[in-house]
Amino acid sequence: MDTKIIDGKLISDQIKEELREKTAKLISEKGVTPCLAVILVGEDPASQVYVRNKEKACEKIGYKSMAYKLPASTSTDELLELIDKLNKDKEVHGILVQLPLPSHIDEKKVLNFIDPSKDVDGFHPMNVGALCIGEEGFVSCTPAGIIELLKRSGVEIAGKECVIIGRSNIVGKPMALLMLRENATVTVTHSKTKDLPGVCKRADIVIAAIGKAKAITADYIKEGAVVIDVGINRNEETGKLCGDVDYENVAPKCSYITPVPGGVGPMTIAMLMKNCYDSAIRHMGA
Ligand code: NAD
Repeated sequence: MDTKIIDGKLISDQIKEELREKTAKLISEKGVTPCLAVILVGEDPASQVYVRNKEKACEKIGYKSMAYKLPASTSTDELLELIDKLNKDKEVHGILVQLPLPSHIDEKKVLNFIDPSKDVDGFHPMNVGALCIGEEGFVSCTPAGIIELLKRSGVEIAGKECVIIGRSNIVGKPMALLMLRENATVTVTHSKTKDLPGVCKRADIVIAAIGKAKAITADYIKEGAVVIDVGINRNEETGKLCGDVDYENVAPKCSYITPVPGGVGPMTIAMLMKNCYDSAIRHMGA
């Protein structure tokens, strides 16, 4: 099989470049600079890296970014107070609370308090509901990035059998709704699914989001299928990053596959940036 490797780094760079050009125009013609506020509570090293990457992406595209780095001892009420201020600030178009939050903070209360029109992560129930009934809103960045990867690689979605492995609120479920919106025939599988290899083998497009290193082996995949690997796992033997898909053995059977790293991962931040731009545009008309 002539397997095409989908280059998420390249596609995400293209999206960021398109946004950079549109942003320069928005600033010069309308005097509006998209602005993202990022809130980090505590000192989690991985979260610090994610926040820094988001700041860097803003800088590269020409957005304003505001980073709030709060101590781990911050209370739910203190966090709500800051979000309230950002909700009311007309200069701010996107508000993102970096997860996970320290365990004493009421995460659900915090996420639901973000103004849905600034919820660029797409986690607010209003945005999830909008996606469900096909209305305008913000879509969770990782699944939105996967749709871009497929479209920009020329993969046809309409009418295809798509099997999604995993039903989390941030990946599996919104992914299913987006594939449905693109007219795929969608099956959502999970840890209680019977005969997962058999179900996956029917699929033209397999999207794996389970969080288990190399769980999806060649036995799950039909010859010529498109395989999208969302997983980010640490290989215990080598210490390197790996996906949910056993890449070496699966890739030769696929028409298209995403690698880990360099596949889905870079798209998440690109789509966050796109959501932030879209928010600035929507707020101009508001
Ligand atoms: P999660 O733990 O919230 O959900 C995992 C899902 O997989 C559950 O619905 C569960 O039912 C299902 N599952 C678990 N074991 C299974 C099995 N053996 N067979 C079938 N289904 C099974 O995880 P998540 O937040 O959706 O993330 C999934 C993976 O994607 C993780 O590795 C995570 O790090 C990665 N991720 C990557 C990005 C990115 O930007 N690339 C973004 C989010 C998540």
